Amino acid sequence: MSQVFGRHTKANLPVAVRGDGIYIFDSNGKSYLDGSGGAAVSCLGHSDVDVIQAIKSQLDSLDFAHTGFLTSEPAESLASKLIAHAPTGLERVYLVSGGSEAVEAALKLSRQYMLEIGQPERTRFIARRQSYHGNTLGALGTGGNLWRREPFDPVMVSASHIAPCYEYRDRADGESVEDYGQRVANELEEELLRVGPETVIGFLAEPVVGATSGAVPAVKGYFRRIREICDKYGVLLILDEVMCGMGRTGTLFACEQDDVRPDIVTIAKGLGAGYQPIGAMICSGEIYRAIENGTGFFQHGHTYMGHPIACAAANAVVTKLTDGGYSNQAATMGNYLNDALQAEFGQHPNVGDIRGRGMFRGLEFVADRDSKSPFDPNLKIASRLKAAAMDNGLICYPMNGTIDGVRGDHVLLAPPFICTNAQIDELVDKLSASL
Ligand code: PMP
Repeated sequence: MSQVFGRHTKANLPVAVRGDGIYIFDSNGKSYLDGSGGAAVSCLGHSDVDVIQAIKSQLDSLDFAHTGFLTSEPAESLASKLIAHAPTGLERVYLVSGGSEAVEAALKLSRQYMLEIGQPERTRFIARRQSYHGNTLGALGTGGNLWRREPFDPVMVSASHIAPCYEYRDRADGESVEDYGQRVANELEEELLRVGPETVIGFLAEPVVGATSGAVPAVKGYFRRIREICDKYGVLLILDEVMCGMGRTGTLFACEQDDVRPDIVTIAKGLGAGYQPIGAMICSGEIYRAIENGTGFFQHGHTYMGHPIACAAANAVVTKLTDGGYSNQAATMGNYLNDALQAEFGQHPNVGDIRGRGMFRGLEFVADRDSKSPFDPNLKIASRLKAAAMDNGLICYPMNGTIDGVRGDHVLLAPPFICTNAQIDELVDKLSASL
């Protein structure tokens, strides 16, 4: 019996012993196609020689240097690579060890920014329903999954939530895509006026909603309108690209496709690609300078932040994703994946929507395609799909979707970008057999 304390105390999980390319092998020799990249982490698969070599070389020279005393070459080089490819205006990188830490840092930095610019009355955030920003108390407070937050509500940051941009379910009959995008973005302004815009620090959103919604991108124009509203009321725009960033959607930063300039972006999963735990918060020069010229000290920090070995791994990953031959891979293979999903499930009576960008795709399941009515939650479609897929040697990321009473079950697919066409066919076949 495992003595490792995981999420599900009663789960009897297979023991992973080896990874090779897009496959993971358990202690019985069974192979699993990593169809979700372990939740959009393993963008380069499991045995990338360049990343492994980068880690080994770094171990030979420097293991650890506390960032209170020293910076390190891999940390500096990673930061400059990220800034070179980040959206305009983003100028400084804060390196942490994962997604929740990146979001937590973003929340605290933005609060401190408000203090530095003399707006201490700004104490709350607005985020969106059906989104996930992490499990630490700050990140959880901004997350929009009621059932996740509920037990911890009394001890979390102050946040309220607006509707996500979710065309499949929420665009009205006859409403143009553009009108829908403006209408749903305008909910931010309504919420600001309801709570008092002078009390709000920032608006937090995932450009493409991942874990809780199954790869839901915003419609064109939505984030442009969000930016206008943030500017009008002096509210920071924080984009959480922990899951959808690092090339996953076909561009290094997902927000590049939404034509929007964020004040802060958070990244994590694909940055370490599974080889090392790492995350980053990237902020605008304006925010950084307000703190530099003010107290000169960001009141935050973690012992393992900017770890040289994690940074060396991430350096190798970012190099591959930018000028190392994988820059277009997620876009190209993502088109193939989308075509394969459309061919297999496009007419399936219980698949209501196939969506996403790049190698970040979601299927939403419905009891009836016309009415889009979700399955009875007691059927636990997503949990059963997960089990059937594991039996069939496929790891995918299904989610019971009716937890907040409105959405259908879905599955998130986020395979490594290195997949071949044949491997994508295998993924789709295994998913189909499991369904
Ligand atoms: N933000 C988003 C959008 C995420 O998807 C996740 C993880 N699923 C997090 C934050 C938290 O990241 P971590 O699990 O690394 O703390």
